[in-house]
Amino acid sequence: MEGVTFNEAALWCKGTIAAGDSQSALGRISIDTRKIEPGDTYVAIVGERLDGHDFIESAFEKGVRKFVVEPGRVDDKSYYAGSTVLEVEDTTKALGDIARGYRDRFDIPYIGVTGSCGKTSTRNMVWSVLSQKLSTHKNSGNFNNHIGLPLTMFELGSSHQAAVLEMGMSGFGEIEYLASIVRPRIAVITNIGYSHIENLGSKENILKAKLEITSYFDETCTLIVNGDDEQLRTLRPGSYKMIKFGFEPGNDIVCTEVRDQGGMLEFSVNWGAHDEKFSIPSKGMHNVYNAMAAMAVGIECGLGFDEIRRGLLQFENEKMRLDIVEKSFIIINDAYNANPDSMKAAIDFLAGYEEKRKIAVLADMLEMGEFSREGHEIVGEYAAGRVDILVSVGGAAAYISSRARECGLENVVHFEDRQGAMEYLDELVRPGDVVLVKGSRSMKMEEIANHLQEGS
Ligand code: ATP
Ligand code: MG
Repeated sequence: MEGVTFNEAALWCKGTIAAGDSQSALGRISIDTRKIEPGDTYVAIVGERLDGHDFIESAFEKGVRKFVVEPGRVDDKSYYAGSTVLEVEDTTKALGDIARGYRDRFDIPYIGVTGSCGKTSTRNMVWSVLSQKLSTHKNSGNFNNHIGLPLTMFELGSSHQAAVLEMGMSGFGEIEYLASIVRPRIAVITNIGYSHIENLGSKENILKAKLEITSYFDETCTLIVNGDDEQLRTLRPGSYKMIKFGFEPGNDIVCTEVRDQGGMLEFSVNWGAHDEKFSIPSKGMHNVYNAMAAMAVGIECGLGFDEIRRGLLQFENEKMRLDIVEKSFIIINDAYNANPDSMKAAIDFLAGYEEKRKIAVLADMLEMGEFSREGHEIVGEYAAGRVDILVSVGGAAAYISSRARECGLENVVHFEDRQGAMEYLDELVRPGDVVLVKGSRSMKMEEIANHLQEGS
């Protein structure tokens, strides 16, 4: 953080300077003593499993002399001597309060990205586009919650000219909270799917929760949404500007044609009087949607079509999002995470390999509560007409295979664990095949992808 003193931080988070120099600067903020440096401020976060206050001594031993703590949780205050200490009621809330205060230091376009899937991909695409003209900040990895987002905000500096911030949620109020910190001027909602439906009960409620991203909008702000999405298409312009993108006519930005150009997708877009062509270094159709979102953000931030074209060409995604490894057979590693919508997107991608034998290795999708069975069955039904062989892995994934079988797919095998599936795949996969590997994060399906890669 640039130039924020303990005094200012204390005002923002209604804390008390209990020791030290109130004019000293917080500098870099760290919540992890394993990665802390002597000049950092250590914020002791109380987590579900660990209490950061138990690590104060370890931070002190590493030379740290600046702390944000909850006084009731500090037994031994000997480290207060010679340190600057800000005492607050709730350190996690203080993290948000300080980030909220710091946000106003910079008069730059703040862009929020949310949605059920494609947040990180879209954020990276927006970043790639805006970076053609503006020095742009973004979250690293998946730092998109009430802790990761403030930490991302602290990395903002006066050299930045824009910031694109991914916001995740699992229930009502969470996006509202993140939006209260960022107060985005431009927001993107990628789609409304099934993830976290266990907490929210219906897609309508998920839409409401995602719309919290507009809580701090005024009439100068812009909401950018996928207008082909069954929920988002129902939105009508209100007190702010709205841009809808998609393949269906009637959207503001319409993709009229997509061509596969050996490893890239080239697509044509109509936007009012403009007809433009773009390419992205990805073969996933869902990334055409993400690219249209990035394009709209680019235009809103004053970029020209040539800059947007260059930015999209330079898009690089994170690992395990449709990573393609070409050996004697092709492995599509999409093992980062899964929900019914991203499963369908990945199956579409697999189905694009029309000439090849298509094998889908699909594992459980978690956090779906009472919708779990339905969600897995939707995927089974979708896979049935599109893949040649289905291998399901895990408890809930049995519903994928049983539904696929009911829908007429004959070549279906289910395994309770990865090991069984791996041994089966060793026998099954042959040169020329294409294998999609996907499941929720905790299913660790990358182990299957890596195993296939090593063996091929
Ligand atoms: P998380 O909630 O875990 O942060 P995310 O929303 O950031 O996920 P990404 O990491 O960008 O999502 O993508 C996860 C997977 O979702 C991708 O590998 C891809 O299969 C799929 N995906 C990406 N974009 C879209 C999209 N626009 N529509 C549907 N599926 C998508
Ligand atoms: Mg993400």
